[in-house]
Amino acid sequence: MDIEREGGCGCGAVRYRVTGEPIFVNNCHCRLCQQQTGSTSVVNAFFESEQIALLQGTLSDHAVTTGSGGQQTIKRCTNCGTAVWSHYPRLGGLGTGLRVGTLDDPGAWTPDAVIFTDSAMPWVAFPEGIPAFATVYNQMELLPPERVARLQAMIERRKAGEG
Ligand SMILES: [Zn+2]
Ligand SMILES: [Zn+2]
Repeated sequence: MDIEREGGCGCGAVRYRVTGEPIFVNNCHCRLCQQQTGSTSVVNAFFESEQIALLQGTLSDHAVTTGSGGQQTIKRCTNCGTAVWSHYPRLGGLGTGLRVGTLDDPGAWTPDAVIFTDSAMPWVAFPEGIPAFATVYNQMELLPPERVARLQAMIERRKAGEG
């Protein structure tokens, strides 16, 4: 049985369940993440969208540009505006980047990579033992084979016209 975890927005209207472990987790320090969160960075965990179920509440769509270019759609609680997850251009609706801070146990996952360190606030210290990259990185080179396979399966589905 895959582990199930729950999370939600700041007001409690939105609750979700996420099944299994993420394909990869990024701690992103790009300027856009800083602006969108008003903070140092964001932590996103990437899943197949089927792994995430909205249990209650409603979400609104907000289209914004990502640090690596292209449009991302941020899903926010319609009541309090907390961003709970995003969909990215490369994978359309097939992939979901869950905002790890919205998990009931936000320490459940450790990032695989710290990215966009080039634009990090100058006083931020990066964690030891987690690869850090000036901008983006190639997940195919960093991740273990079973997670690369999950990512590749989504890319193939996208090429076949899904999402
Ligand atoms: Zn809310
Ligand atoms: Zn970012």
